[in-house]
Amino acid sequence: MKLAMIAVALLLPLVAGAAAADADEFDFFYFVQQWPGSFCDTQRGCCFPDTGKPEPEFGIHGLWPNYAKCRPANDGPDAAASIDMVVGGHHRRQKCWPEYCDDSNQLLPFAIRDLISELAGNWPTLSCKNGGGGPSIEFWAYEWKKHGTCSGLGQHGYFAAALDLKRRDGGLAGILAAAGIVPSEDERYLLSGIRGAIANATGAIPNLECNRDAFGETQLYQVYQCVARDGKTLIDCPLPMSGRCSDRVKMPPF
Ligand code: 5GP
Repeated sequence: MKLAMIAVALLLPLVAGAAAADADEFDFFYFVQQWPGSFCDTQRGCCFPDTGKPEPEFGIHGLWPNYAKCRPANDGPDAAASIDMVVGGHHRRQKCWPEYCDDSNQLLPFAIRDLISELAGNWPTLSCKNGGGGPSIEFWAYEWKKHGTCSGLGQHGYFAAALDLKRRDGGLAGILAAAGIVPSEDERYLLSGIRGAIANATGAIPNLECNRDAFGETQLYQVYQCVARDGKTLIDCPLPMSGRCSDRVKMPPF
């Protein structure tokens, strides 16, 4: 009986993942990483997870299935951009990405047990929700439910794919540092220089998103790398994104 329950727990995410793949077509993934200095350096501030202060390196935010048919002047990932799509034979106005494809498919820690320590180092939560200082797995579970269930990947495959992508570039902070772009309290860097450094090192043009520090200055917040549907191959980002950046942006220390 116990064995049967374990087998069901192991198979459930695989079966559910396959169902989501049939239900949703998407064109590419955004692999999104956040600079912790810019998450923390706003009026809202940040909290560290139960594992302590993360390394001064970009952390994973998520791996997001996305449609390529959105209106080009997409104003950031949460803009109300929408497209006409045929879903299930009907024309529907909907977002630029599918989300919450299977609410019954909850993240099971057991399914990703071998990845947990690597995830903790590379995908830390900085949110102060519920008082902060909580486990990062709540962030992973949220990302899985909202985006992962639409990815066509199973739970293990989804998180392993994100870690593989992160490992591949050897760390965006290192790539930027090699191009002379280092965290600084007062330096401002050309946005084109940041994009160019990442494109040169990875072979694919990313999109960039900024937020504002407590004084209202724009700073590099998130890097969006575009990935083919296989979850592995980096591609040039097909949609331009204004991303709320100015021509020169800050990259605050963390
Ligand atoms: P998404 O941008 O994927 O739609 O939503 C991100 C959600 O994850 C938000 O509800 C946010 O509060 C939560 N969250 C938890 N930890 C983090 C974090 O470190 N960074 C960001 N951006 N969101 C986080």
